[in-house]
Amino acid sequence: MKIAVASGKGGTGKTTVATALALSLAGAADLGPPLFLDCDVEAPNAHIFLAPEFERSRDVALMIPEVDESLCTYCGICAQVCQYHAIAVVGQSVLVFPELCHGCGSCTLNCPEGAIREVPDVMGVLEAGKASLGIEFARGVMNIGEPMAVPIVRELKKWAAPAGDRIVVIDAPPGASCPVVESVRGADFLLLVTEPTPFGLHDLRQAYQIGRELGIPVGVIVNRDGTGYTGVDDFCREHKIPILMRIPLDREIAEGIARGRPLIEIKPEYGDKFRALYGDIVRIVAQEARS
Ligand code: SF4
Ligand code: SF4
Repeated sequence: MKIAVASGKGGTGKTTVATALALSLAGAADLGPPLFLDCDVEAPNAHIFLAPEFERSRDVALMIPEVDESLCTYCGICAQVCQYHAIAVVGQSVLVFPELCHGCGSCTLNCPEGAIREVPDVMGVLEAGKASLGIEFARGVMNIGEPMAVPIVRELKKWAAPAGDRIVVIDAPPGASCPVVESVRGADFLLLVTEPTPFGLHDLRQAYQIGRELGIPVGVIVNRDGTGYTGVDDFCREHKIPILMRIPLDREIAEGIARGRPLIEIKPEYGDKFRALYGDIVRIVAQEARS
């Protein structure tokens, strides 16, 4: 069972929920510790709550072109075949723009002179180890200034792929862009964390579309519940999205989270609530598979 936890924007409590779910499952005798993937590679912070000790790591690199100008005839074919405008021929020189390159290899394949070779451009690192309660923890960390998170998310998911049918909790990046889609792709269930405000509803709509387009069943957790705003409830009712949990607006929770304490440590009763939520997710996934 792979459960992706996402939210249309940052600051809604997505990582609070993802880490609480992982810790609750790790504490269940019949389930065992899950694998936790922190796919928020631009700003990973699940380690604050799960305290992993990293035991292994690996660089993530994109293969980008390097031109041997002693072989180049400046024919311009490499620039013509590059869809991303990442290579340009200007007079008697070939310019490569690594920040635009997607590492597709098309320029190398099409160079008639064999003047291009591919060299690694390190974009970030993958790290893995054991975290609290025996949770297997893995994350990607993107180098500052790198423009593309998707290759790091993709490599993280491959590198840390669990053996057997272990439960996987995926902490997706905030937003609704390509890195979120890459994080959520292949999940059995998408758990969307939102807050009952007009902004929360706006971002929930976008994140919900990702689940729909990928054909993944969706459920919602309303965090900081109790504002009186009903737009989120109305939206969920209209689209038949189950609201699986409500976490109230609570000063003790907010202060504990700000100090880096997991939700189930601040309020231990959430351990049972998240284990019940997992049971709900299993039922929904089974129902969807039958329909
Ligand atoms: S395709 Fe090859 S030969 Fe032509 S400009 Fe590019 S690097 Fe030079
Ligand atoms: S590897 Fe692909 S994206 Fe990069 S410069 Fe070559 S053609 Fe463009």
